[in-house]
Amino acid sequence: MKYEFVIIGAGPCGLGAAYHLDKLGHADWRILERSDHVGGLAASYVDSNGFTWDVGGHVLFSHYDYFDRAVEESLGDAYYEHLRESWVRILGTWVPYPFQNNIRHLPDEALQECLHGLRSLSGDPSAAANFREWMESVFGAGIVKYFMEPYNSKVWGMPLESMSREWIGERVSVVDLSRIERNIAEQRDDVSWGPNNRFRFPKQGGTGAIFEGIVRPFKDRISFGCDVCAIDFGNKVVRCRNGEEYHYDILINSSPVDVLVEQSVDAPEPLRDAVSGLVHNSGLIVGLGFSGRRVDPKCWMYFPESSSPFYRVTNFYNYSPNNVPRGDVGRFFSLMCETTYSPHKPVDSATIIATTIAGLVNSGMIESGQANDIVSRYLIDIPYSYPVPSLTRDRALAVIHPYLEAQGVYSRGRFGAWQYEVGNMDHSFMQGVEVVDRIMTGATEQTFKGGNQK
Ligand SMILES: Cc1cc2nc3c(=O)[nH]c(=O)nc-3n(C[C@H](O)[C@H](O)[C@H](O)COP(=O)(O)OP(=O)(O)OC[C@H]3O[C@@H](n4cnc5c(N)ncnc54)[C@H](O)[C@@H]3O)c2cc1C
Repeated sequence: MKYEFVIIGAGPCGLGAAYHLDKLGHADWRILERSDHVGGLAASYVDSNGFTWDVGGHVLFSHYDYFDRAVEESLGDAYYEHLRESWVRILGTWVPYPFQNNIRHLPDEALQECLHGLRSLSGDPSAAANFREWMESVFGAGIVKYFMEPYNSKVWGMPLESMSREWIGERVSVVDLSRIERNIAEQRDDVSWGPNNRFRFPKQGGTGAIFEGIVRPFKDRISFGCDVCAIDFGNKVVRCRNGEEYHYDILINSSPVDVLVEQSVDAPEPLRDAVSGLVHNSGLIVGLGFSGRRVDPKCWMYFPESSSPFYRVTNFYNYSPNNVPRGDVGRFFSLMCETTYSPHKPVDSATIIATTIAGLVNSGMIESGQANDIVSRYLIDIPYSYPVPSLTRDRALAVIHPYLEAQGVYSRGRFGAWQYEVGNMDHSFMQGVEVVDRIMTGATEQTFKGGNQK
């Protein structure tokens, strides 16, 4: 089979490309998707007991009118809107996020250490050689010791000195000392910080419902069960495990770019070397469905301490009552717990459900007796969870993307582009939209950074 555009992956990025091609009236394209559903990492699942789960806490922070319109077309008014409220569990207390603005909640000794660190900042963040140095120069020793270091080690599962600082932007809230001191003096909290403090969540079907809706007009153009296993750049053909072959003029890839290169029959050695500079971590998402009623307005919570394996827990029943069986939040609630694993941070998937439950008890999220109220246990293993902004990344991408584009291969999305700072759902969707625009009209891509744009 031959198409002008072949798109690998029906996650947000591949769907963004397809959605835009469809809007432009272009018909000569096909999506190859290895699973039997759309959404990729932004899909949702209903377990056998009737609880709905996302692949970790997914919150929609859109930076784009175009994506907002696509979501509106998809959901209509079938969504709830929530005020984003996140907290840090630390030293037996709850501190609203962003942590540094709300350190007044800490026990006095830790508070003084954090303040001392903030008041004696000396390093220049713009001269920091890596993420760890950047944290120390921005937050000071106390906040690094109590929150930044342990939390980031848990999320990334990487030595923090092996990560760059260039990705940070709006992803990490930085420091305003006078505001922090005023918050302490006036006993005031900063909650719901950030680029937008409200988020929408589908009434039914979890986050994945957004993409189930977006795909409706062109679902018949997706070949499900097509697991691409080989690519021949020279002859412009991909092969799938089911034996099908697809020829293309242009390939838009949203599968992990390191795998794509490994699967190629004709990648030159420098390209193969370059992908060894890409680092990712993996994740285990544990969904626990409970019988009983829980009243806790928090959306999600961060856990920097070693008393739990997870770095984040979402009160998922709060996002929609339909995330629990029969929509009955009077009788059921659900917690979604995310743990990172990596070669630097091995985690045993055989015991993660048990250690997650113990961690919930240790951190005061549930009483020990509530472990008996668990009526559903759901585990999702994600081999590719976060594309790590490692010190080796940009050098690798400067080889990979120009080479691929010279072959008519545009690799975009969370693991296609491998740019964490633009790796959320909205970014990934728009990377698909924008690359189509670039190919069709010569427009410059705004979201994807890098490549050899003409
Ligand atoms: C734990 C976690 C929490 C997150 N939280 C948020 C959040 O709060 N807000 C937010 O906006 N984003 C969040 N994200 C990011 C969001 O999931 C991604 O931005 C988005 O899913 C990326 O879309 P994508 O299409 O680039 O890639 P993916 O979602 O990875 O989709 C890629 C698709 O390609 C398919 N595929 C892969 N290999 C092949 C192959 N060989 N052949 C055929 N098909 C293939 C896959 O099956 C998949 O469907 C989170 C991600 C994780 C892991």
